[in-house]
Amino acid sequence: MSRLFNFSAGPAALPTEVLQQARDEMLDWHGSGMSVMEMSHRGEAYTAIAEQAEADLRELLAIPDNYKVLFLQGGASSQFSMLPMNLLRGKGKADYFNTGQWSKKAIKEASRYCKVNLVASSEAENFCTIPEAADWHFSDDAAFIHYTPNETIGGLEFDCVPSNGEVPVVADMSSTILSRPIDVSRFGAIYAGAQKNIGPAGLTIVIVRDDLIGQTIAGTPSMFDYKKQADNGSMLNTPATYGWYLAGLVFKWLKKQGGLAAMAEVNERKAAKLYAAIDNSSFYTNPVVPKYRSWMNVPFSLANTDLDAEFLRGAAEVGLLTLKGHRTVGGMRASIYNAMPEAGVDALVAYMADFEARKA
Ligand SMILES: *Cc1c(COP(=O)(O)O)cnc(C)c1O
Repeated sequence: MSRLFNFSAGPAALPTEVLQQARDEMLDWHGSGMSVMEMSHRGEAYTAIAEQAEADLRELLAIPDNYKVLFLQGGASSQFSMLPMNLLRGKGKADYFNTGQWSKKAIKEASRYCKVNLVASSEAENFCTIPEAADWHFSDDAAFIHYTPNETIGGLEFDCVPSNGEVPVVADMSSTILSRPIDVSRFGAIYAGAQKNIGPAGLTIVIVRDDLIGQTIAGTPSMFDYKKQADNGSMLNTPATYGWYLAGLVFKWLKKQGGLAAMAEVNERKAAKLYAAIDNSSFYTNPVVPKYRSWMNVPFSLANTDLDAEFLRGAAEVGLLTLKGHRTVGGMRASIYNAMPEAGVDALVAYMADFEARKA
């Protein structure tokens, strides 16, 4: 058996130690005589697992007490509609930033429930930059402000929390949550699909300020109601029990690494090494304005795209997997979430230099 370096954007690599622990606990969790997958979600053992995971996440992100943490299903994409259903609170408008393909999807879905005011868009710049704050146009009657801190496909990242005073800010943190410390109190809500930086696909985490919930639009299904989910400990029905458990193991692993400040140091260094390799070469390029480059997803292209397939083949031969860029962008993309060790980035940088020396 060998575990290679997997640069997948999602579902993405998980820490090897976490998978080993899950393997060791697979058939008999802590002497319970059964797998976590086989447990009643309302039993004593699973309740302890679920509560511990939430406590560890709260500790990692320093989540204030007036925020609910929900462990839901349906992916980040379901949140594109659940957010307006829950957070419009009688208003008819929301402010959205359009900075990439995930923003666009969120906007499209929100438009079914309310008027969407585009605060700013970098579509004309091919989503390679974030518009200057001077050019943001907030509305004065928005229920919330939505943005995508890290655009997973474009590799574009905000360098601030865009805010307009009192209006709650909502962030799709699917590909950046837990990559560094954040100040949760600056947000009305944060959501993330688990399969990038939290755990396996099937689990979606929502962190929401408790005064914002309980005023859903008419016809909101109970399952999509944040308040009902919060009041029932995310167990209105059977939750994604195994994903929740694995997320809990990842949270423990993050604490063991020194928490999010320690992760931030490593993540910043990993990204800096990779961008330096790209910028110091005339063979590789990344189109994003440097100040807005993502720590987590690094797209790059080869000067000669005829060599793309050969680059990918050679990478796989030396154990560097899933570097193919998003189908809509082409080229390459290296996703370097928390679980990608620095050694993986070093190996990629070495391979890139070697490939360039042989082929450029
Ligand atoms: C992956 C991703 C999504 C979609 O996630 P699903 O869980 O597949 O719905 C949404 N937003 C961002 C920023 C993502 O990276």
